[in-house]
Amino acid sequence: MKRNLSIRYRIYPTPAQEAVFRRIAGACRFVYNLALEQRERFSRRDRAIRYVGQANELPALKGEAPWLKEIPAHCLQAALRDLDRAFVNFFEGRTDFPRYRHRGRSESFRFPDPKQFSIDHMSKLDRRTLRALIAPKFGKNRSNFGAIAIRLHRPLHGRLKNLTILRDGNNWYASFSIETRERHTPVHQYRDSAVAIDRGVSTPFMSSDGEAFGQQTEGPRELLRLRRLQQALARKRRRSSNRRKAIKRIAAHKAKIARRRKDSLHKLTNLIAKSHGTIVIEKLNVRGMTASAAGTATQPGRRVVQKAGLNRAILDKGWGEFRRQLVYKAALLGGRVVEVDARHTSQTCSVCRHVDAASRYNQTRFACVACGYAANADANAAQNILQRGLVAIGALVEIADTGGGLPLAACGDLAFGRSKKQEAKGASLKKVAA
Ligand SMILES: [Zn+2]
Repeated sequence: MKRNLSIRYRIYPTPAQEAVFRRIAGACRFVYNLALEQRERFSRRDRAIRYVGQANELPALKGEAPWLKEIPAHCLQAALRDLDRAFVNFFEGRTDFPRYRHRGRSESFRFPDPKQFSIDHMSKLDRRTLRALIAPKFGKNRSNFGAIAIRLHRPLHGRLKNLTILRDGNNWYASFSIETRERHTPVHQYRDSAVAIDRGVSTPFMSSDGEAFGQQTEGPRELLRLRRLQQALARKRRRSSNRRKAIKRIAAHKAKIARRRKDSLHKLTNLIAKSHGTIVIEKLNVRGMTASAAGTATQPGRRVVQKAGLNRAILDKGWGEFRRQLVYKAALLGGRVVEVDARHTSQTCSVCRHVDAASRYNQTRFACVACGYAANADANAAQNILQRGLVAIGALVEIADTGGGLPLAACGDLAFGRSKKQEAKGASLKKVAA
């Protein structure tokens, strides 16, 4: 089984190297935006503007913009590939129309050919924990800017596919895309353990065991600091070097919070993927996500009213990343992620299956009007998601339905024919789930 992963390492460019980074990133952005404009203007007439055509125009473009000649050609081609991918994603309905890249926001470039870069394990650099990253323009031959110092905080295994140099906050990183191959699918350590994770209202992630996850990474202290930094920025004179420094400080602060959030999300998904063989989550409409992020869609879905006050776009984005991490981590460990339709799960009693909006006592409490079962609203919803997931994989044959309950057919693609074998297999999981 082939799997693609990317690993990011911090790099420490010299000022001269950093200047070259910015030049290459700027050139890639220029080519990307130019190619996007070309497609925008002429696609209607000539639908066939694709990667190959645009890449073939690069030499002519260099004639008109000679400064592009010093940029590694592979990087420019990679930028065109990115654009091509962006269009494919758009035409296949996964994303919005490709947008222009802006200076400062997307500072990156890619070396698409693994033959062109390497890590020198016989470090010629002074600092002992650092290694030398060698790439075109950087350490490949004498007339260039020297190898880049890289900190290999973890080993780099697998087949290298490409290398992206990018800036995040004020730091630079080398992100390697690698392909790993496993000879056999591992058996999950807790393969009989199933859990569901719900996007909570009172907490970002709520498990069907009633455990709340997703600590706040941006508390009042961090917000206060951001406000102070912004006030300081407002006092600086335009185009002054102090203003530039203040902008840098704000970027550093934001990047720090982003790193914290990322770190806690990775820890969380790692914990969940390690401790459960089956993880059930709700299915999300990705298209709707990007649309609502742009602030256009009033997408009717669950809990729209309750969530109206929250910044839905941010929550959805976090959920998308959460899902992505869960899926690949579960796969690495031999587990699986099951997605189910989560409609009505917040109004359904997980004990008696009675569906009633009135059971939703308030934001955080669920109290069934039929049987009196009371629980945390998110935990109850997570229980429902778990049950649907178990039905979907054939581990739970039927959901006990005592009147007013959601008929199985209403769960969409969850309920369909199950073989004897699946039922037998389900028996063990059912016990665990109970
Ligand atoms: Zn009930």
